[in-house]
Parts: sequence; structure tokens; C-alpha cells
Amino acid sequence: MNKYIMALDQGTTSSRCVIFDKEGNIVSSAQKEFTQFYPQPGWVEHNPMEIWSSQLAVIMEAMAVGGISAQQIAALGISNQRETTIMWDKNTGEPVYNAIVWQCRRTAKRMDELKEDEFAGVIREKTGLVPDAYFSASKIVWILENIPDVRIRAQKGEILFGTVDTWLMWKLSGGKIHATDYTNASRTMLFDIHDLRWDPELLEKFRIPEKILPEVKASRCVFGYTDPAILGAEIPIASAVGDQQAAMFGHCCFEEGEVKNTYGTGCFMLMNTGRKAKTSKSGLITTIAASCPNEVEYALEGSVFAGGAAIQWLRDSMRMIRTAGQSEDYATRVKDTTGVYFVPAFNGLGAPHWDQDARGMVVGITRGCTKEHFIRASVEAIAYQTVDILRAMEEDSGVELKSLKVDGGASVSDFLMQFQADILGVDLERPQCTEISALGAAYLAGLAVGYWKNKDEIREHWQCGRKFEPQMSDEERAKRVSGWNRAVTCAKMFGSAE
Ligand code: ADP
Repeated sequence: MNKYIMALDQGTTSSRCVIFDKEGNIVSSAQKEFTQFYPQPGWVEHNPMEIWSSQLAVIMEAMAVGGISAQQIAALGISNQRETTIMWDKNTGEPVYNAIVWQCRRTAKRMDELKEDEFAGVIREKTGLVPDAYFSASKIVWILENIPDVRIRAQKGEILFGTVDTWLMWKLSGGKIHATDYTNASRTMLFDIHDLRWDPELLEKFRIPEKILPEVKASRCVFGYTDPAILGAEIPIASAVGDQQAAMFGHCCFEEGEVKNTYGTGCFMLMNTGRKAKTSKSGLITTIAASCPNEVEYALEGSVFAGGAAIQWLRDSMRMIRTAGQSEDYATRVKDTTGVYFVPAFNGLGAPHWDQDARGMVVGITRGCTKEHFIRASVEAIAYQTVDILRAMEEDSGVELKSLKVDGGASVSDFLMQFQADILGVDLERPQCTEISALGAAYLAGLAVGYWKNKDEIREHWQCGRKFEPQMSDEERAKRVSGWNRAVTCAKMFGSAE
């Protein structure tokens, strides 16, 4: 009987299930988009039950379509959207509120006050993060303070908190597992990334009862087993890892200094810094990388809040395109943007700016600007935001980057990838496997149960699908980046004047 590894990739816009064989090939997969709720400007929520039902549906579909039984799954791994906060009743499993999504800015004001506080330095030192509404802590506080009785019930031990990995493990195990991994814990702003524990001082500062928090384990270990009533067998849940750390592992960026960039709803660049937790001087954050039980590794990270989200906005709100893929057709009909820049700061700006008040901005419009130019500017914006991150990363590491491994939904766009190579002046390598986060979670799970022997064995699977090399002149690049920088200044000024 052939055995496989199943990876769940619970992303911001869709739930996926991908089943891999021993060579790291996809043998079956399924994907389902789910509802995004925007109850107020800047707020973003998901329904935790829909996260679970869409995830379960794609598990069933991937097994049915591939003709694979639960007994053939050697292990299951989870890669998940990070920071998104869910709280539920320990006894009934009923969520007490919608999931507050990483993009949600409802706690931005509060975090601004905290930034002024000298406590910001403590947060930075212990968690490696820049205090921001992006991370889970202030989202937990919001639920504790705004949903009736939740604080009292939490103090009585009736409420559990989890990021999406925790929620899925809890559901998959029939309520037996309440755990998370180091990578996800490192995004809560409550976890000491050096001592590897929930930090009592931070918990006290945010008034968060420790009993709601999950047990924290290495990304690569057996957390427990699926309830046979759910999938038909007891499958080991052998990895849980934040999607960006999963992608870094899926790209086999195992060595210090290796870098990947993922183009999903947001864009996330991670550099492996090995056993050292490096502190950024350029607005990046320090985070834990996918690790095995006895050797925690770290990464430097730059997060762009609106990457592919800008294209989604063109599709769903502006209704300029019917599919995300059409953005490429429009963008390539014109040779440039006629000097138009679009800064999609829908939810403020992430690294390296960390400006919660910045808002979306279109500049440089002349009478000649058409829909094609505007769409092109939207796609180019994804690449420009990555320039800001890459330069910060080079400054922090002191290394000039020569190449970048890329993945994520928007990386399928050849136009975007070529423009990115041009505007960065570095080579991009897009792997053959398009499901890199899922692959990373699968590798970790497979390693935990001995399906794969070691990293060397899996490194042999990595295959470059297409390489993109820069073709733009230095002068042209400098001119365009200067225009972008001016546009970002406008987006920041608009917010700060409010
Ligand atoms: P997530 O895991 O964050 O849900 P994905 O990796 O699935 O994200 O990528 C989805 C994002 O990619 C969407 O925001 C979508 O707009 C964008 N996208 C998908 N295809 C393209 C394309 N051809 N060109 C540009 N953006 C695209």
C-alpha cells in the first residue's frame, strides 16, 4: 500500500489540502475559497466554523479525487495563516466571536498608544516584533474586553485561544489537542522567542489569563492524532507551522542567509539566520523558523500587508477584472504606467515603514491614464513594496542578495515576476511545485514520522520551474524606484494628517 503525506494549507482567502508522495510530487489537491467579512473600515474577520468546514471539505475532496484512504496517510501537517485570532468555549467548541484576521486594524489606536510607552522596547526585545495591531495580542484583548462575559469565563478556564493551527488541531482531534508551535506562538506578541515560553510580564501587561493559551511545541513533532470519527483513521498530526515559515522550509532554505519571498494576500520575505535571533535595525522583525524539538532556528522577516490583495480588490471591489489572472493581460497591453503609482496601503503599511495610519494612494494620474495603466500600476505595486523589504534585509544582514526563491498565488504571473527581477536587480527562482507552503508542512510532518530521513533527502526534490533575470537598466530602475518612494511619502502624509 502506497503511503502519502497530507498537508493542510489554511490561507487567508482559501483552504487547501495537498497530498504528496515520497518524491514530493502532488498526487491530489483541492482548494476552496471562503468568506471575507469587512464589518467596518479596516476590520477583517473570518467565520471559524467556515475555516473548519472548508478545510474539512477539501481534505475529503483531495482524498476522494486521488482515491486515497485515510489509512494511506502516513502523517498530516498544517501550514496556516498566522496571527489570526480565534477564541472558543472549551466545553461546547462554540467560537465566542469571529476570527479576527491578521489584516484587521481595529486595535491600531491602542497599539499606537503602546508604541509611545517605554514598554515597546520590552516587547521588541522579548518577542522580536514591532508592537502592532497585526499580531495576536491586541486582538485577544479586544475579544476579552468587548464580548460579554468572555473575560470572566476565560478566568474560570472555560475559554481557549488559538491561532488557526491550534483551532484546526483542536477540531481534527475532536477537542483533544490544544497546542501550537513555536512559529505561530512567535507571532502572538506574548511569546519570549529566546526563552521559548509565554512571557508572564507581557501577559500581565495585556491582562491575558495564561490558562487560555495553548501548549507550545516544535513545528516538527507529533502533536497528537486525528479523531477516527472525523477522517476514518487515527492520523498523526506531525507538523504545525505558520505559512511563511512553511514556505521557507518548502523552498529548502535551510542554510543561513537563504531567502524566499511569498506573493499571497500579503507578501512575506524571510531570511534564514540560523541559530541566531538577529535584531533588525531597519524595521524588520525577528521570528522563529520551522524547527525540530532540540534546535530552534530564527529568521528575519519583512511583511507587506497588501500584495495579491491589491489584485483581489481590483477584482471584487473595483470590478475592473473578472479573475486575478486577467491583471496580467491588461498590464502587458501597455509598456508602462505613464508615471502612475498606486500604493495599496489599505490597512496601513507594514515593514519597513510600520505606519498604521497610511492609506491607499494613487499618484501621477494624467489624462492619458487608462484602465490598463492603472491595473499595471497595481501589479507593479506588489513588486515595489518588495524592494523596500529587500533593501532593509540587505542592510540588516550586510549581504547583497543575488537571488530570491519565490512562490504564492501571485507568483504565477510571469509579468509580475519579470518586473520584480527588473526592479530588484536580482534573479528570481520560481520552483516547479506551486504549493510551497503545503510542501513545507508536508516535509516537516514527513520528517517527524520518519517518512523522509533527513533534510538532504528532501533537498533533492527542489526543482526550479523558471528563472527570471533582470533586464532593466540601473538608471531606469533608479528613476522608477524614486517615483515609488515619493508615492509612499504621499500615502504616509495623508494618514498622518487625519
Ligand atoms: P493566501 O494564501 O494569502 O490566501 P495565495 O497564495 O492563495 O494567498 O494567493 C492569492 C492571492 O494571489 C490573491 O490575493 C490573488 O489576488 C493573487 N493572485 C492570484 N493569481 C494572480 C495573478 N495571476 N496575478 C496577480 N495576482 C494573482
